[in-house]
Amino acid sequence: MVATRPRLAIVGAGPIGLDAALAATERGWPFTIYEAGGGPGASVRAWGHVRMFTPWSMNVSPRMRARLGAAGTAVPSGEECPRGHDLAERLLGPVADLAELRASLEVETRVVGIGRHGLLKHEEIATPARAERPFRLLLSGPGGRQRVAQADVVIDCSGTYGHANSTGDAGIPAVGEQQLETRIRRTVPHVAAEEQHWAGRRTLLVGGGHSAQTAAADLAALGRRVPGTEVVWAVRAMEPTWGAVADDPLPERAALVEQTQRLAGGDDPSVRLVTGAVVESLAERDGRLAVTLRNGSSEAVVVDQVLSLTGYVGDAELYRQLQVHECYATAAPINLSAALLGAAAGDCLGQESHGVDVLRNPEPNFFILGSKSYGRNSQFLLGVGWDQVDEVFGALDAEVGQGPG
Ligand SMILES: Cc1cc2nc3c(=O)[nH]c(=O)nc-3n(C[C@H](O)[C@H](O)[C@H](O)COP(=O)(O)OP(=O)(O)OC[C@H]3O[C@@H](n4cnc5c(N)ncnc54)[C@H](O)[C@@H]3O)c2cc1C
Repeated sequence: MVATRPRLAIVGAGPIGLDAALAATERGWPFTIYEAGGGPGASVRAWGHVRMFTPWSMNVSPRMRARLGAAGTAVPSGEECPRGHDLAERLLGPVADLAELRASLEVETRVVGIGRHGLLKHEEIATPARAERPFRLLLSGPGGRQRVAQADVVIDCSGTYGHANSTGDAGIPAVGEQQLETRIRRTVPHVAAEEQHWAGRRTLLVGGGHSAQTAAADLAALGRRVPGTEVVWAVRAMEPTWGAVADDPLPERAALVEQTQRLAGGDDPSVRLVTGAVVESLAERDGRLAVTLRNGSSEAVVVDQVLSLTGYVGDAELYRQLQVHECYATAAPINLSAALLGAAAGDCLGQESHGVDVLRNPEPNFFILGSKSYGRNSQFLLGVGWDQVDEVFGALDAEVGQGPG
């Protein structure tokens, strides 16, 4: 049973954390949003130069639209696809600045771990007794100062961006990868803004998803202007499909895939695609990196740097001391993962929410929402997150015996 005015801790001020905060204000429930970055939408800002596939009409939640409108703030709309920076500047910033949210957002505050006051993970296994103890959150604030906070309900919206998968085969690091971490970039680079880092140098790009495709296109454009800029692009699939969707309703995505198909076809001499390839080992040699790629036989390449865009998965350490049942295959909470696997892999536009029961964990009143809830599945779209927030707050309403005011 949850308290009649539950105290909420929301981890992360990304789009979904902010939407959850708006849902809390509708009910007059006390809440705090803990955001590790310097402001709202820190992860979205980190890929801020990338244009989204989804237009404004799909990127603003109904709650955000209503509350910004009521506050007299312009609400972005229409079919233009914003860049990440636009989403942060024109939507997430203004939402976080709403009078009802502002005082409850703690930036530069990372949630380090979440437990149950006075209980260990293996105690009171999946019993309601756990709900009688508040959550205990260890926070690391500005200057690394640590303190503890308590909450009755925790909503983990900490996303996945930055928690990168390894470069090596089988999902484990390649030989030597861990020693060379400082030479490996794992986020989508803003090539135009940091030309000196990429121009006239040879980069090993690993990964075949849309982030890697975006980077390949940007590096190829640089290569056309600056001689000596080269990309060796290693992709696991023997015959990559690049996530092409027949009659794609998202024109930005269709354009990226088309551009990639041209690059893969040898359209640009600065990009050499190696398909069916995995990274076997990395070693420093005379200031450069000697890489062994394996695709049937071994190929040795020497590069200046590695750009590894092999996907992300959320930080499970945060809830290691809670009773969360993760899927052994996708690392998402088991019930949601099963529902997603059951729905079969389709286009992200076909994604829909699967109801509050798949969002529940054995740990009462602990919810993982947003992109993190999808584990290794990269099909998450913002619209699913808005539905998840509705469902969780609907379930809490039922327990508390109250609805939005
Ligand atoms: C390049 C790129 C393009 C994308 N394009 C689209 C698109 O077109 N349409 C779409 O719907 N989706 C798109 N996505 C997916 C997109 O990331 C999500 O839809 C959206 O950002 C997910 O929101 P979120 O709130 O779940 O997580 P995030 O936006 O990742 O927000 C998580 C927040 O939590 C904070 N945080 C992390 N750990 C902690 C901690 N321990 N303590 C406190 N705070 C923490 C982070 O700093 C961040 O601010 C894209 C993703 C990428 C990477």
